Amino acid sequence: MTVEGTTGTVHGGPRLPQERRLVTEIPGPRSRELFARKQSAVPPGIGTTLPIFVTHAGGGVVVDVDGNSLIDFGSGIAVTSVGNSAPRVVERVQKQVADFTHTCFMVTPYESYVTVCEKLNALTPGDHDKRTFLVNSGAEAVENAVKVARHATGRPAVVVFDHGYHGRTLLTMTLTAKNMPYKDGFGPFAPEVYRVPLAYPFRWPSGPENCADEAAAQAIDMIEKQIGAANVAAVVIEPIAGEGGFIEPARGFLPKIAEFCRANGIVFVADEVQTGFARTGHLFACEDEGIVPDIICTAKGIAGGLPLAAVTGRAELLDSVHASGLGGTYGGNPLACEAALGVLETIEQDKLVERAAHIGEIMLPRLRSLQERFGIVGDVRGRGAMTAIELVVPGTKDPLAAGPIAARCHAEGLLVLTAGTYGNVLRFLPPLVIPDHLLEEGLSILERAISADQSA
Ligand SMILES: *Cc1c(COP(=O)(O)O)cnc(C)c1O
Repeated sequence: MTVEGTTGTVHGGPRLPQERRLVTEIPGPRSRELFARKQSAVPPGIGTTLPIFVTHAGGGVVVDVDGNSLIDFGSGIAVTSVGNSAPRVVERVQKQVADFTHTCFMVTPYESYVTVCEKLNALTPGDHDKRTFLVNSGAEAVENAVKVARHATGRPAVVVFDHGYHGRTLLTMTLTAKNMPYKDGFGPFAPEVYRVPLAYPFRWPSGPENCADEAAAQAIDMIEKQIGAANVAAVVIEPIAGEGGFIEPARGFLPKIAEFCRANGIVFVADEVQTGFARTGHLFACEDEGIVPDIICTAKGIAGGLPLAAVTGRAELLDSVHASGLGGTYGGNPLACEAALGVLETIEQDKLVERAAHIGEIMLPRLRSLQERFGIVGDVRGRGAMTAIELVVPGTKDPLAAGPIAARCHAEGLLVLTAGTYGNVLRFLPPLVIPDHLLEEGLSILERAISADQSA
């Protein structure tokens, strides 16, 4: 199927007409039919944010089976940062799929895997000697970072933070903070995982000014007194907590934790699965405070939607693992590697780091003006194209569920995602290639959705 639009007949990708266009209610009749089939064929454990079924996507829009074109503030959860079907990704993947689809890199290698690793070694923070290996998902990357850190240090414990999210496998689900929906009933969990406070400025009991120092002191005290620093293999932290509600740790917190790790031989693992690849106005969010992680985990934005993830770290850590101790059948699949090379070219040539910063300059002032005008907007935060508002009962910090406002946005053709430990955060992750007029239109829809709220 093709889409008739103002620029003629086009497929997906950036040539898709960059407009919001609603021709049925949301979801429309075709999507409803397909959703009924989904409910009979797929278990409810696989949730649905917005039950429109997609036929095309590109630039800043997603087009559904009923012909509706929605503004995309989600990027498939921070994945299609270069846009859906970005030209350099399409071209490389099309060539690769015709040449060969899989050999298993551990059986007979190919160049694109090595090139991706070389580029990540060069682009990630720090100019020390690095190694990278490739896996399929963010969870697999985090899980492998822990394997490497344990092997390299000979220590068992892993320290994670309140509000952290690291995936859904047994180990990464254990590393994840929130019970419902990620952990409930799925135990027993993996051993030797310890959770400490995160410097969450908006909710820090003594206020945001003291947050970094007090949270770091509490976290370090817990590590020293309850675990013993010498038992800790790794500290795993998101430089901005993603699913936990786009919480930027108070400035100074991350450097203090990183310094404590350095002083105690603990591997500092940055989970940049959601924050990586230009999203925050830096190529990696750690750069904002000059943090140099020992290991950095990347995924989501790395390959324009093809399944790929990476573990990049100090050569001496990654080289400490015996031959064939790491890997997997599909890790670094050649299609995904070509896609990643197309993504990295696109970020560089289209200046998407600067573009992410520009998106933040458009969005944050408008979000702050919502905060000034509407009591339910308790906090505005984020960097670049990773921004959020936290909703509260006006005059308090009691959480106000974000679902109803998200639903009003969806009905008006704006795809937004929720987040947060208390389910009260609306997060915004537009593709970095979204045109400004769609950003502005999306923000106006959001404003109407908020002003329509009973308690606003
Ligand atoms: C999404 C996410 C993961 C898990 O990635 P998957 O590809 O879904 O396994 C891990 N860490 C962070 C910070 C994430 O946002």
